[in-house]
Amino acid sequence: MPLVSSKEILEDAYKYRYAIGAFPGHHYEMIRAIISAAEELDTPVIIQTTPDTILYTGIHHLAQMVKTAAENTKIPVSLHLDHGDSFHLVNQCLRAGYSSIMIDGSKLELEDNILLVKKVVEVCHAVDVPVEAELGTIGGAEDNSNVRNREIFLTNPHLAEKFVNRTGIDFFAPAFGTAHGKYKSEPKLDFPLLDDISNRVNIPIVMHGASGISDKDLQKSIQYGISKVNFSTDLKSAFALELRQHLNENPSQENPRKMFITARESVKEIVKAKIKVLQGSKAAV
Ligand SMILES: [Zn+2]
Repeated sequence: MPLVSSKEILEDAYKYRYAIGAFPGHHYEMIRAIISAAEELDTPVIIQTTPDTILYTGIHHLAQMVKTAAENTKIPVSLHLDHGDSFHLVNQCLRAGYSSIMIDGSKLELEDNILLVKKVVEVCHAVDVPVEAELGTIGGAEDNSNVRNREIFLTNPHLAEKFVNRTGIDFFAPAFGTAHGKYKSEPKLDFPLLDDISNRVNIPIVMHGASGISDKDLQKSIQYGISKVNFSTDLKSAFALELRQHLNENPSQENPRKMFITARESVKEIVKAKIKVLQGSKAAV
């Protein structure tokens, strides 16, 4: 089917207390692994791309790959801009057919962040594309210079309420203890804060930096309104590990069509495992 908006699938998840996985479409191999996993579990999926991924492949190539993959499967697939860093890029993504947008103005002062997000919401909603935005700082090293090496400042729930009301966003990404990249120590999620934020904003909440969060904490977060969970590091690590091992074990392997098979397979298995955790509470309903 054609790409779907993330709004419908996330609102269903929010209502029935499960979550949709959002996975990084770095290139064709990753996109194929993610879609295969979702197909096997018959669940909607979000493929997301950062500005750096868009630069790497080119926006039209990337969008076309995901659109073609979506058109050739029965599961709902949404194409999301992750950590969009400018109004310009948002418009490019809309023209290329993205069906979900995140604008990250979290490095700006509150009023400037609100102004930028409002402008993005206006253009996106005009074409029925939902918007995610962030307040507070989710730290760590995603492959995006805007979020590299930043300290974590947890989201203030009062400001979160104001931010969501004034911007009209569809999904909210707060900072409540997760971080991008590999965790140096056990992550501590602030559930009372998440609960407070969730009760104030009343829209689906997004967890960034979910690689390394325990299954138990993932499921607990879902009970507090987390409806979209972003994974990246786990997939990248598995892909690199498998590819390295395959090439080491097969030093004469020079076939570009064959060298990614095991790496793709390992990403598919991780995506399946994560989706099962996110669907866990739905299965129990
Ligand atoms: Zn993120």
